[in-house]
Amino acid sequence: MTERAPEPSIETTLIHHPYQPPAGFSAPQPGVFKASTVIFSNVAAMRARNWKEKVGYTYGLHGTPTTFTLEERIATLEGGAHTVLVPSGLAAIALTDVALLRAGDEVLIPDNAYNPNKELARHELAGWGIAHRFYDPMDANALAASVTPQTKLVWIEPPGSVTMEFPDVPNLVRAARSKGALVALDNTWGAGLAFNPFKLEGGLGVDVSAHALTKYPSGGGDVLMGSVTTRDPALHLRLNAAHMRMGWGVGANDVEALLRALPSLPLRYAAADRAGRTLAQWWATRPEVAQVLHPALSGSPGHEHWARLCTQSAGLFSVVFDERYTARQVDAFVDALRLFKIGFSWAGPVSLVVPYDLSMMRKQPRWRGTLVRFSLGLEAVDDLIADSRQALAALDG
Ligand SMILES: *Cc1c(COP(=O)(O)O)cnc(C)c1O
Repeated sequence: MTERAPEPSIETTLIHHPYQPPAGFSAPQPGVFKASTVIFSNVAAMRARNWKEKVGYTYGLHGTPTTFTLEERIATLEGGAHTVLVPSGLAAIALTDVALLRAGDEVLIPDNAYNPNKELARHELAGWGIAHRFYDPMDANALAASVTPQTKLVWIEPPGSVTMEFPDVPNLVRAARSKGALVALDNTWGAGLAFNPFKLEGGLGVDVSAHALTKYPSGGGDVLMGSVTTRDPALHLRLNAAHMRMGWGVGANDVEALLRALPSLPLRYAAADRAGRTLAQWWATRPEVAQVLHPALSGSPGHEHWARLCTQSAGLFSVVFDERYTARQVDAFVDALRLFKIGFSWAGPVSLVVPYDLSMMRKQPRWRGTLVRFSLGLEAVDDLIADSRQALAALDG
């Protein structure tokens, strides 16, 4: 006689439920799958698992249908073929460095780059025997002269996100390639919309695009995430392998927030661009400022490179106050702003402002005086102009 299994207890049936989601369910938003553990149908399936080609599922850290969906979306947005998600934009920079650099190699970073990129090179990379140099992004010839066979990676950041200088991206790529270095571009400002980093001109493209999804793709000021996108499958495999070994996974709730925000990305980007140019043009008429730094404004450094490459701009610009104003006076202006909130990051619904000491931003600052960076949110631009105007009274206070 075969023994009949006893009815399982409630503890067990709560876990081993019989429900199967109906095939054919369809909605505008993709489903959200959360997993650390992924269940295999049998031991053979477990032994045959393959995380490399994303053809199956092995463990939450290596991907779920939800993360694969966002990776596909970001690759499409940026004109690439393969994307890896990481927990922040800075982690996207770190993953690129960790995957592509070894002891004895050298990395070149623009002098006006996002500062934590430089700090990572100064500290962890230096400790691992990886050399670095900071180059002037506005001088492609100097870059071409300074790359060596040891230079394995060159970072490009168009534009530097504080001084807003827009480099000659195609010529920087050519300079880096002249000695065989790989090129990684921080695509956070362009967000996949202002230009295509994989199709610059005449078949020229970067190798890697790192993107702080924290900024425009999220648009909420509430999610941290980054991505690393490539076209080359072999390069993607190097990044994916390093990603797995570092354990830099992302949470499904955050991925869901990104998937929800992506359809409105082009609208939000265009709105921030319009508002940014309107406010930058208003600042250009003000006697208090020495220069407005916005790549879409003629007279801004690298405007001609922006005009050749881009159709749009992020809603981000800086103003350099006239030297007659002290840093303390400029701080008083920033404190007097009401709608612009003081805070790092950008591309959320709330407009943000940060004053910067120029000598910290550039080895050889092109300007004197205090720089203030504005990031446009989604408020009505007339209100933002009125806010800026009323706060100017505090400059002379
Ligand atoms: C914000 C930012 C990053 C880093 O993104 P986090 O998600 O905040 O780590 C990297 N590069 C640029 C240009 C950025 O603006």
